Amino acid sequence: MEIIDGNAIAASIIAELKEKVAARPAGTEPPCIAFIRVGDDPASVSYVNKKNKTAAEIGMATRLTLLPEDVSEDKLNAAIDELNADPAVHGILIQAPLPRHLDEVRAFRRIAPEKDVDGLGTMNLGKIAQDDDSGFVCCTPAGIMELLRRSGVTLSGKHVVVVGRSLLVGKPVALLALQKREHANATVTVCHSRTADLAAITRQADVLIAAIGIPEFIKADMVKPGAVVIDVGINRVADPTRKRGYRLVGDVDFPAVSPLASKITPVPGGVGPMTVAMLMRNTFKAWERVGR
Ligand code: NAP
Repeated sequence: MEIIDGNAIAASIIAELKEKVAARPAGTEPPCIAFIRVGDDPASVSYVNKKNKTAAEIGMATRLTLLPEDVSEDKLNAAIDELNADPAVHGILIQAPLPRHLDEVRAFRRIAPEKDVDGLGTMNLGKIAQDDDSGFVCCTPAGIMELLRRSGVTLSGKHVVVVGRSLLVGKPVALLALQKREHANATVTVCHSRTADLAAITRQADVLIAAIGIPEFIKADMVKPGAVVIDVGINRVADPTRKRGYRLVGDVDFPAVSPLASKITPVPGGVGPMTVAMLMRNTFKAWERVGR
């Protein structure tokens, strides 16, 4: 069994970007990413801090718009519109989840497609379905594909089973694996909460991608020996032995499944850091496009 080291792969992508940003012509502005965070959900605070810190490490400029938990849709729209119109901003990320009274998809759609570096707007998601790589591929699915490619996993002709059909992860990663192009060409099955006899399907997977949001949901009897297992889940479970009172676990029962798998991603240190690296790569691409 091989552990796919997302930290190491992400670090090399970030190092490449840092070099490229440092090598820009003298006197030109670096890429700039703007974050919009609504409320103080602890996971969102931590994700935005991490993304902000990584952007700064690369030498990118950052903006942070903080809006109160009860912000109106009009005010959120105004904040998005302002960043859309600002030529100094190259990429915009709205940290999900938004509070329930706000429509997340409507907010994602409002970001100008050329600044939609999170890739969750209609134009960029649609391009994935069209096998068109001129847009921005949403970050977690892009990170999963990059991890597989850099770990030497060939998808062509393989059965990829995705558990989860969210807009953020399950659906787009299924479309990416299905694309008619190199490093894809998989046969894809997408499962969800209404799937009958889930284990019978997951056991057929050559590559199993778990994006469910339930701690350690995928057990050993759901996995074919030799499968590649990608664990997207990030779940906080109470752990009084830890200083912060919790630990992070994935959607896969790692101790039970890892001896069976040929390759597996850990949590933390698997898909998570790749999501951040792909966001940075998309922001760099947005900046290159506008010619600085
Ligand atoms: P989500 O929007 O809640 O979607 C979860 C999916 O799992 C849904 O499609 C749901 O089915 C399915 N599901 C729930 N219970 C199931 C069951 N018993 N059997 C089969 N399918 C079931 O979650 P998400 O945004 O995709 O996130 C999934 C996990 O990945 C979370 O732990 C999240 O924190 C993590 N995540 C990690 C990253 C990263 O960077 N590593 C990024 C994003 C998310 P229905 O559609 O039928 O409800």
